[in-house]
Amino acid sequence: MGYNESRFLEVLMRFIVKMTLLFALIGSLSHAKDCCENEAVILLYHRFGDDRYPSTNIKIEQFKAQLEHLQSGGYHVLPLSRILKAFEAKSPLPPKSVAITVDDGYKTILTNAHPLLKRYGYPYTVFVNPSAHDNASKNFLTWDEMRRMQAEGVEFANHSATHENLLQKKGEDDALWRSRVSAEVRDAQKRLQSELGERRNTDPKIFSYPFGEFDEKLKMVLHELGYYCMAQTSGAASSEGDMLAIPRFAISQRFADMEDFKLKLATRHMPIAHLSDKKHRVSHAANPPLLIIELKKEIRGFGCYDSLGEPLEVQKQGSMSYAVKSKTKLKPPRDRYTCTAKAENGGWYWYSHLWVVED
Ligand SMILES: [Zn+2]
Repeated sequence: MGYNESRFLEVLMRFIVKMTLLFALIGSLSHAKDCCENEAVILLYHRFGDDRYPSTNIKIEQFKAQLEHLQSGGYHVLPLSRILKAFEAKSPLPPKSVAITVDDGYKTILTNAHPLLKRYGYPYTVFVNPSAHDNASKNFLTWDEMRRMQAEGVEFANHSATHENLLQKKGEDDALWRSRVSAEVRDAQKRLQSELGERRNTDPKIFSYPFGEFDEKLKMVLHELGYYCMAQTSGAASSEGDMLAIPRFAISQRFADMEDFKLKLATRHMPIAHLSDKKHRVSHAANPPLLIIELKKEIRGFGCYDSLGEPLEVQKQGSMSYAVKSKTKLKPPRDRYTCTAKAENGGWYWYSHLWVVED
């Protein structure tokens, strides 16, 4: 049920870490004091200390080291809801703001992660799909456990009722698809509120896409339902970004090298003025897709990479616009274009574009 992070991040991270070391820029990776008052880096975990699932698990020793780094590095770990409300109000966040989120509601959150997070005093948000908890599998948190955690400050939010893929299927009737999505979101919300309290996940309402998959149509349904939506694309979240596809860095034991972790924390929101393609769906005929990224300002060293960390074809059009296209066809079910550039006052501008690729 967890999200299998693709290899691209690993390869890309390694590449950038190497490049960074090469140019001895480590010192400038930390955020400048007042650069990012409308930005936060949001981390996404699934399982803790459960080695059977290396792509969605973090080892306890790795997790401890990450929490230690957040503390010693002066990061402000804030509740996700507070960050989203600051985005909404356009009010400033402290520098180096970070949120910790966990998808799927596995038991190891309570047994292995919660005591550590409590020791550090770090708030966090768990996205649950109620059917898993109603069915009382021993791998998932019980509602009683969730109530206990909530009393200790943990937030719970909506991850759909059943964790089915919510994208419209081929040949699925439009009205039926819309009512399927609405029911998934509304049923989950109803269960959250009846089990955890009327006000649970209402201020604001937050949703995490199952499997991190979305397209423009799905985003619009969630928008109509009034949700902030969490994606699984990499990059820093910003009040200037898309509130229906808020990026999160998936963290797992495969990508838990400390330099990678520091790099993720040092990402900045890519100042994008306009994207040519917001549909996110790629048909056979349009594969590989062309993405034109118009920036709000001139930045240097703009480059884009495919899922394997290989450079994409990037053509500069004028001073602030780039045409990005893969040389090879993208692979189903999902792929990404990831673009980066060194930020002026430290860190990396970072944008990752999700493609849902037709099989
Ligand atoms: Zn999930």
